[in-house]
Amino acid sequence: MLATGLGATWYGAAGLRADDATNARRVMDQRTAVARASVIAETGRYLDLLQTVAAGLGAGPDISASGFQAATAPLATSRLTGATGVALVVPADTAEVAAVEAAWRARGAAGLRLSPRPGTTRHLFPVLSRPLNATVPATPGADLAASVEASAALAEGRRTGAPAVSDAYVLLRDRALPPSRQQLSFVFAAPVYAPGDGGAFRGWVVLGLRGQDFLGGVLGDASQGLLAGTLRATDSAGRAVTVAAYQALGRRDLRRQATFPVGDQHWTLVTEADSARLPGARTLLPLTVEVGGAAATVLLAGLMYVLATGRARAQARVRTATAELRQAEAEARRQAGLLSAIMASLGDGVGVIDEQGRYLLHNPAARALLGTDADVDGPDNWQRHYGLFLPDGTTPFPEERMPLVRGLRGESSDGVEMIVRNAGRPEGILLSVDGRPLDASAGQRGAVAVFRDITALRRYENDLAVFAGVVAHDLKAPLSVVRAHCELAIDQLAEAPPSDDVTQAHTALRRILGAADRMAALIDTLLAYTTARDAPLSLTVVPLGPLVADVVRERTEHLRRGTDPSPAIYVGALPAVTGDPAMLRHVVDNLIGNALKYVRPGQDPRVDVTALPAEGDRVRFTVADRGIGIPDDDKPRIFETFHRAHAGKGYAGTGLGLAICRRIVERHGGTVTVEDNPGGGTRFVVSLPAAAADAAGDGEPAAAPLPLPAPEHARA
Ligand code: ADP
Repeated sequence: MLATGLGATWYGAAGLRADDATNARRVMDQRTAVARASVIAETGRYLDLLQTVAAGLGAGPDISASGFQAATAPLATSRLTGATGVALVVPADTAEVAAVEAAWRARGAAGLRLSPRPGTTRHLFPVLSRPLNATVPATPGADLAASVEASAALAEGRRTGAPAVSDAYVLLRDRALPPSRQQLSFVFAAPVYAPGDGGAFRGWVVLGLRGQDFLGGVLGDASQGLLAGTLRATDSAGRAVTVAAYQALGRRDLRRQATFPVGDQHWTLVTEADSARLPGARTLLPLTVEVGGAAATVLLAGLMYVLATGRARAQARVRTATAELRQAEAEARRQAGLLSAIMASLGDGVGVIDEQGRYLLHNPAARALLGTDADVDGPDNWQRHYGLFLPDGTTPFPEERMPLVRGLRGESSDGVEMIVRNAGRPEGILLSVDGRPLDASAGQRGAVAVFRDITALRRYENDLAVFAGVVAHDLKAPLSVVRAHCELAIDQLAEAPPSDDVTQAHTALRRILGAADRMAALIDTLLAYTTARDAPLSLTVVPLGPLVADVVRERTEHLRRGTDPSPAIYVGALPAVTGDPAMLRHVVDNLIGNALKYVRPGQDPRVDVTALPAEGDRVRFTVADRGIGIPDDDKPRIFETFHRAHAGKGYAGTGLGLAICRRIVERHGGTVTVEDNPGGGTRFVVSLPAAAADAAGDGEPAAAPLPLPAPEHARA
């Protein structure tokens, strides 16, 4: 586009320039014609004037000095450019010189002194003269025979009877000038004859013409300084001699040449000029077209460039965005592939549902565990479709307790056990299920469940529990025997006469009895542990008030007999829950027992037992103390079997109590957690299903703060 535009501009400008060139040539032709005409006209005028003077001088009977002056007077006013002067020249022999001098003095040529050129006999003397523009005066009486060119011209004039023009030469009068000021000149000679046919020859009227002055004057007028010119004259030998040159400003790219006759000679005028300076030859139009065209082209090209590159930029942006999109798509595909590969290789079953309970995802392990490939949407269908039961194997699993359903409610649940028994799983398997609300980053609401088969594990644990139960039971019998024998021995010792030996034996027997009691307690705990896991639940309404009051009474009965400072136990209003009374008693007893036990030596235990209704028909039962507290690192682990946070600090225990509590609470579909009691101590929170409203207890506090004696650890 740029090339085309500039090309068109150049083409247009070139056309206009060609027009200009043609114009310039035309102007040059015109100017040259004028210059040539001027030269011809001027030389013609000089010759005519000479002839007129010669005719006038020849017409009279004689030529006198005054007659000459009168005849040549018009020449003085004729503005003869380059003319040095006009003279009457007469020929004489050497012998005639004196006579000629005398004769012309007599005719008025006062003071005429002839200076014949030595070595020649024929002389040519200007006897009368009139200067014209001459800066260097003529040398009066000088012998023109000294110049070959002048002599030849005079001879030719006389021969032909017509004016003749000499070859170019330096005038005699100018020869005294320094060479730089000398210039080639001509003489024009017109013969003078007496009137009548064959009239006597009287001499010549001779005009000197300086070449440079003549050319400068004529060309200066004719060309107004625009033309340079060179005047050449062809001499009698046929050679072209450059007589004069006239300079003008500028280059010389135009040249013209014209040859024309001047008298009996031929002169050549060469003119040169700078086409750019010729008026009318050069216009500003091509330049205007060129500059304007180029500017418009560049402007247009710039516009096109901006448009084209703008489009290119937009395309580049689209390309970049597309590439990024493709990359993101590939990345998303890769992530999806990775996710499904992970899901496929997981041994645990994973199920994800949306907020309507429709399945979004089920991995192969989930299908294998559930024993069916067909999913069914909607939680109300799950129990029947998958055959879901509580761990007792017969009670249909309640929909609201399913981990996915709880996940939709925003709750988390861990280790929820359920039996799956259906056509694909006729033998039934036990699953442990964890449920969570779907993470917000998933971009939609829902729930996720992860479940694993714990049938084999549970079978193994059961075997172990049975074994432990048998062992515990079998250990209790010999322990009772030991205890009975000890008590018998103590009774018998009471009858023996007191002595040191008797005292020592008594002490030893008491120690054996204490150890046997501790061992019996341990065996009871182990049995409670197995019972808590395996004994079937007999659910009923359990009013917590009386239960707690009973535990507190039992825990503090023996303390009342002591003399140590009393613990303070505050029991708030407690509702009824649904559960197994014996097992729940075990939980309450354990928590209150720990609250009384884990206090600093010498410090009064302080326990607050309260309960509040909680979300989802549940009861939040709390046992808070002001004891020694539990380090944060231990909190997550104290519900594990045999984990003790304060082992070796003098607090008796087995590390099984809280493990049993958790097991019991979870079997009731509840949770138990531990946290710091604000203000010091520990707080255990147990969540349990509330009893139906009509079956609940009176809700009155079972006991106001009870004054109690020494803490349990003081005895331990
Ligand atoms: P233990 O028979 O040792 O009491 P538990 O299972 O009942 O076993 O408790 C586990 C551990 O938790 C205890 O060893 C004790 O370190 C810590 N613990 C339990 N209850 C309390 C409490 N109320 N205050 C401080 N520490 C407690």
